[in-house]
Amino acid sequence: MPDSNQDNAVLMIIAGPAGSGKSTLCDRLVQEFSSIERVVTCTTRPPREGEIDGQHYFFLSDEEFDRRIENDAFLEWARVHTNRYGTPKDLILEKLNQNIDLVMNIDVQGVATVKEASLKEPIIAERLTTVFIMPPSLDELIERLRGRGQDDEAEIARRIESAKKEVKAKDQFDYVIETRTKDEDFEEICRIWQKAKGLLDKI
Ligand code: 5GP
Repeated sequence: MPDSNQDNAVLMIIAGPAGSGKSTLCDRLVQEFSSIERVVTCTTRPPREGEIDGQHYFFLSDEEFDRRIENDAFLEWARVHTNRYGTPKDLILEKLNQNIDLVMNIDVQGVATVKEASLKEPIIAERLTTVFIMPPSLDELIERLRGRGQDDEAEIARRIESAKKEVKAKDQFDYVIETRTKDEDFEEICRIWQKAKGLLDKI
């Protein structure tokens, strides 16, 4: 599948409730398209087992995160569940200016802020494509979150509450993928990717 129309690097943001499969889609795009890089974002959350600083996230102290807010280092930042997360602005601008394709997975409120920020950064407005991953149902989402074994019941309940709000924002996105199987979801995101790259007229 062609993936290299490098005259128009794309910034694709994939968002959706925790457990919707957005990180899997993001990782798979990076694996299968050699031209795409994943944006590593910053967080004040402690690393989970197996997570590597600089690869999964830049893990920052609260003080360092505050300092970066003061220095206007984030394109957007948000409190998600109980921690803060932020998208490094310079890194994204630098990569887009080098025509490097980017994909990132952030929460729904972050997407609205990126859109706002893009009013001041035309290259982002030009290259941005937003995709919402819509889970089949809240019950299915609870099952997936339990199956991951990452969060306790209180955290799962918090994430489900967030999911209810997030789903309401889905119309603000360029595309919505109603999840089916992992492979079908991936095929759909590939078509969206190719459309964003100007390699496909319609999806
Ligand atoms: P987790 O702690 O499970 O890795 O991520 C929690 C949520 O934070 C996920 O929905 C993820 O998409 C979101 N997230 C990760 N990085 C950022 C970021 O830079 N900005 C925003 N707004 N959300 C982020």
